[in-house]
Amino acid sequence: MRLNKIYLDEALNKLNEVRAKNTKTEANRRTEVMNKLPQYAELEQQLMHTMGQIMNLALDKSRDAVAKIDKVIDNIKQIRGQMDELLEKNGYPADYLDPIYNCKKCRDTGNTGNEWCECLCRISNEIAAAELNENAPLSRSRFDNFDLSRYPKTADDGDDASPFEIMNDNLAFCKNYADNFSEKGNGILMLGATGLGKTHLSLAIANEVLKKGFCVIYGSLPTLIKKIQNEQFNRAEGDTMTLVTSADLLILDDLGAENNTDWAVSALYEIINTRQNHGLQMIINTNLTAYELKERYQDRLFSRMFSMKVLFFSGNDNRMELS
Ligand SMILES: [Zn+2]
Repeated sequence: MRLNKIYLDEALNKLNEVRAKNTKTEANRRTEVMNKLPQYAELEQQLMHTMGQIMNLALDKSRDAVAKIDKVIDNIKQIRGQMDELLEKNGYPADYLDPIYNCKKCRDTGNTGNEWCECLCRISNEIAAAELNENAPLSRSRFDNFDLSRYPKTADDGDDASPFEIMNDNLAFCKNYADNFSEKGNGILMLGATGLGKTHLSLAIANEVLKKGFCVIYGSLPTLIKKIQNEQFNRAEGDTMTLVTSADLLILDDLGAENNTDWAVSALYEIINTRQNHGLQMIINTNLTAYELKERYQDRLFSRMFSMKVLFFSGNDNRMELS
């Protein structure tokens, strides 16, 4: 995941907050243990004293200095062992008083010596994603409030299954997809008229995948395309293209509602192509039919879209609640 520079300062501030919080917890733990186990404080005193002996021995030129140092080192190990044991005996983990780091790799500093740590990239992208997702009605769209009873139980003429049966299967597929989500995979193409629940199910997936700690970006394609265009022509700051091509899961809503220009099609191609080349997951929603998609996006894009799992949404469109 690449670093989104726009949000670097904010990400570094977040890491400062993490460090401040962890330092406070460390201090609280220490006070707690010192009050509860006076013996621990005594052992710590002994440890300091013994470490001091090593400093003196370093200046000792006598023949048995090395043997003496070895003995002191043994002593230190023994005291440390007693300290750990004391903690464990009293129900604390042995590392209870060790420094706390959310990211052990960079010790929550954000860099690993000569480069930015991946935790900083992640935080920076999460901030950017949260901003892009701001308008998505995430909390309202869950699996448990997806109302299957809205879908007719009788099949339309010529159809094998009723909208209810089709949507029941779609719901089960989406739940399973969210439960077993991993960064690499094929993604979903959702086809169907407005109001049949494509957005609802996509956001329900987003909710679950976000809970697992993945970076999810949800956006309507017309809005994203406009944003990318403004950034590329220097009318706005940001790096939405990097974000949409690198997030763990990208949900593109309303494919087909964007302006039908060569520029928009090639931006869309770049997004889909880059993500598929990296094996990254996508969910694409569209009101267009397969025929309309083929007409509009031509073979190279069409075949990429249809390499994903295709879910057809069915029901009495438009008469149903918009979602
Ligand atoms: Zn880190």
